[in-house]
Amino acid sequence: ASGYSLLRDPRHNKGLAFTGNERDSHYLRGLLPPVVLTQQLQEKKLMHNIRQYQVPLQRYTALMELQERNERLFYKLLIDNVEELLPVVYTPTVGEACQKYGSIFKRPQGLYISLKEKGMILEVLKNWPERSVQVIVVTDGERILGLGDLGCQGMGIPVGKLSLYTALGGVRPSACLPITIDVGTNNEKLLNDEFYIGLRQRRATGQEYAELLHEFMTAVKQNYGEKVLIQFEDFANHNAFELLAKYSSSHLVFNDDIQGTASVVLAGLLASLRLLGGTLADHRFLFLGAGEAGTGIAELIALEISKQTGNPIEENRKKIWLVDSKGLIVDSRKESLQHFKKPWAHEHEPVKTLVDAVKAIKPTILIGTSGVGKQFTKEVVEAMASLNEKPLIMALSNPTSQAECTAEEAYTWTEGRTIFASGSPFDPFEYNGKVFVPGQANNAYIFPGFGLGVIISGAIRVHDDMLLAASEALAAQVTEEHYERGMIYPPFSDIRKISANIAAKVAAKAYELGLASHLPQPKDLVKYAESCMYSPRYRTYR
Ligand code: NAP
Ligand code: MN
Repeated sequence: ASGYSLLRDPRHNKGLAFTGNERDSHYLRGLLPPVVLTQQLQEKKLMHNIRQYQVPLQRYTALMELQERNERLFYKLLIDNVEELLPVVYTPTVGEACQKYGSIFKRPQGLYISLKEKGMILEVLKNWPERSVQVIVVTDGERILGLGDLGCQGMGIPVGKLSLYTALGGVRPSACLPITIDVGTNNEKLLNDEFYIGLRQRRATGQEYAELLHEFMTAVKQNYGEKVLIQFEDFANHNAFELLAKYSSSHLVFNDDIQGTASVVLAGLLASLRLLGGTLADHRFLFLGAGEAGTGIAELIALEISKQTGNPIEENRKKIWLVDSKGLIVDSRKESLQHFKKPWAHEHEPVKTLVDAVKAIKPTILIGTSGVGKQFTKEVVEAMASLNEKPLIMALSNPTSQAECTAEEAYTWTEGRTIFASGSPFDPFEYNGKVFVPGQANNAYIFPGFGLGVIISGAIRVHDDMLLAASEALAAQVTEEHYERGMIYPPFSDIRKISANIAAKVAAKAYELGLASHLPQPKDLVKYAESCMYSPRYRTYR
């Protein structure tokens, strides 16, 4: 290849880091100024540039441009500065990017499959240049973060999630495929926006929707085989549960909003038991919000208790109560409940408000997954504090403005007795001379390592026990030193090591269940996982 095209190929381009020898042998002489920089120095320069931008969206755009110019340098930055850059390439900034995708959009990333491609999805997949895809993240854009229906502009989400698969989980960039399925949008603002990039029609539903998704799922398996992991992302709950149930027996599918969330929250609960004492079965749980996150977490808790006690899962579900927009979910409401809420309709008189539900159920653990901010009022939190020596409170709704309460409120209203975690990050908070570090139940702890585990074992199906294995592996990464600071999640700066440990445990479970196809089983799975992880260091060209 000519030197000129080498500089324009993001997978191979090293910019000013091309050495003298490389410049000679690859026809690069004169195409670059004389200086030769190390990757470290390039990284320093770029981080400096990025930090100059005050507007988060500018940081996002700068990073996307880097990804399109010099892929290894992009991942080097992301890996070395994970705590700083995660909120830029992912939530919250990616949300804003999706909202404005039409206008910041320069070069398309990923694959777009719309109703127009019906009947030819297999051919569309063949247009993608990479043959050996290992992970697909797909969205239909209907429930992007907490922002609702962004239609085709949801593409920012699969792109962002897959860059985390690479940076945090070490999956090769060329093995990652972002896909957006465009069945229209019900977002009036987008439908009337002259720069909107998607189909200008209302969402297809019912049979038309099901048929397009079925063609897609079939084409993926036909083109990439059994071992490609398909992650459903940010589908609305009226489709998400059904798609997962429908395809989990025939495909390698994972829904991060349901299963990834469940796994990361369960990990926090398991870790917190070291501070709370007792076992999971000793606790009573109350959720505000009974959607993908709430019922997904609830179900995984019930499953984990079954593993620990041998009790049937139906028994364990009775320790778990959920409140939705109509109040406590109870048996008298059963008829009118969506199917994913039915298992949680326990015997109880109707209760309208959260505060009354707390008083009636007397939970030891309160979890917010409603998407509505400020619902853990002073009254609610104080009720938790009067019922429990150490109330565990998780305010999971994103973004920060939607959190059920802030870290400050939780610590203050419980007089420093709560163990607190949230979905969006909060700064450490000092109360009565003690510094508390709030936990962040970020799905990015789980899905990259989980995916790596699936890949290295060649798993052909996802089994719930693999989610439990991921939770246990994450909880095991919390050390005494972390507990002393009130932390129930390990620091993000160790994420690659954490991911390797999660991958090893997930892979081990896949082997145990007979779902692994990569044989023989490697002896030391942690070492093996580490050895498989993508490194962003430049290669030398001869
Ligand atoms: P979802 O499927 O739409 O579910 C939302 C649930 O909240 C529904 O059951 C809804 O009730 C209920 N709800 C809405 N308003 C309420 C109110 N005022 N009072 C009581 N309940 C109310 O959404 P989701 O996917 O589960 O996500 C929910 C939230 O969790 C989002 O903010 C998301 O960002 C957050 N989340 C956090 C994490 C994390 O921290 N790692 C992971 C995933 C999601 P109805 O069913 O009656 O409408
Ligand atoms: Mn999501």
